[in-house]
Amino acid sequence: MDNVIVKRGYRFNIAGRPSTTLKCLPDPEQLAALPDKIPHIKPRLHVAEGDPVRIGSVLFEDKREPRFKFLSPAGGTVRRIRFGPRRTIQAIIIERQSGQEPRVGFEALSNDALATIDRKALVARILDGGLWWVFRELPFRDLPAPENSPPLILVGLDAKEPFSPAADVYLHGREDLFAFGLKVLSKLCGGKLVVFADAADHALIARGRDWLTHTVEGAYPSDDPGAVLYSIKTQASENRAWYVAGQDLMLLAELLRDGRYPTQRVMTVGGSAAPAPGHFLTRLGTPLSHLADPSQIIQPARWIVGGMLRGHTASQEDFMGLYETALNLVPAGGQAEFLALFTPGFRKPSYSRIFLSKLNPAPLLYDCNLHGDARACIACMHCADVCPVDLLPHMVFKAIAVEEVEEYLQLGLLDCVDCGLCSYVCPSKIELSRIFGNAKASYAREQMKRSE
Ligand code: SF4
Ligand code: SF4
Repeated sequence: MDNVIVKRGYRFNIAGRPSTTLKCLPDPEQLAALPDKIPHIKPRLHVAEGDPVRIGSVLFEDKREPRFKFLSPAGGTVRRIRFGPRRTIQAIIIERQSGQEPRVGFEALSNDALATIDRKALVARILDGGLWWVFRELPFRDLPAPENSPPLILVGLDAKEPFSPAADVYLHGREDLFAFGLKVLSKLCGGKLVVFADAADHALIARGRDWLTHTVEGAYPSDDPGAVLYSIKTQASENRAWYVAGQDLMLLAELLRDGRYPTQRVMTVGGSAAPAPGHFLTRLGTPLSHLADPSQIIQPARWIVGGMLRGHTASQEDFMGLYETALNLVPAGGQAEFLALFTPGFRKPSYSRIFLSKLNPAPLLYDCNLHGDARACIACMHCADVCPVDLLPHMVFKAIAVEEVEEYLQLGLLDCVDCGLCSYVCPSKIELSRIFGNAKASYAREQMKRSE
């Protein structure tokens, strides 16, 4: 097992860590698929309001690549299709049929059959089973072309983004499924398979002795596949490596081994305003209010889906998307603090050392207060100090501001792993990571147009 060291990053110590006891939630009445949360696709609907659907029925496909299909997580009736600005499809909401939900059947693949099936047939099963989305290709994190055999597939088991599901919880008692998933990946991969876990997670390393290839040392976001790739890549072709999240690999294994479109997943609820931080086994596309009861939240809170740093703000009427496994409830802040300048800030998080919280080992209370407005860059270099892929974010920012494409590519924009740390530490409140994400997405769109 090789060890990778990611030197830069940041260790968060946040109150509201989810307990690791797994609770099973009852099935919610409604579930949803969220097409506009899947990056780089153009959804085309296969259903209309009022249509009956089964678990595994096609809800929508990608217009550019119709083999990318997205299937229903529930059996019942399409209750509502919610559109956003410019007719973007935000949510396909399905009312679940009570009792046994109808399902589409898929062919199951035994261990022996997996050993002999060829790559093309295996790819066809994954595409038909609507789970090609589990694969993402670096650096744009879009869905890879099925015909391409990747030089490297990375499988990450860590959860350093506060607070994602812990691998120990979702793997518990299901290691056989994970091992089956790894066999699938070795059939798809043209090169190396890299399976990594946090070097400090001794229990997970003991459990994965037979299949882990790397341990990773470092603070957040050392568990990001892009950060790991940055440290281990040996040739330029590996920049187009694929990656799969550990839990998503188990969904894929369930589809192929058991011939059933998977419907359940472990999700977390955490954050200082969470009434009951924990791990929950629930349905794909579950409503946020099913994970956290709004009536139990005693202070104004922001609902952040998909991780504290990379996630997006949602409302309690929203649902969890395909790539989202964490809901954080963070006090909304916004109210002026009485004599704020004269308080020592023992529980106030801060990257710079202006509060005494640096001396406090207890979990800190994060809220949404920005403590000031955006202003010009003061060249403090905090952003460069934390960047896991050694970018100079303030320089990249300046190159993007003047639309110097060649320059920002040269400065390594494509290596950016969208971790959000530079924005978090910036005392000038510049939303660096969002600006980088937008620049990367528009560069990706340009590339796609050229190849069409
Ligand atoms: S530039 Fe910012 S968002 Fe990108 S990897 Fe560096 S710290 Fe993370
Ligand atoms: S952290 Fe913000 S203010 Fe400091 S150098 Fe980076 S962009 Fe400029």
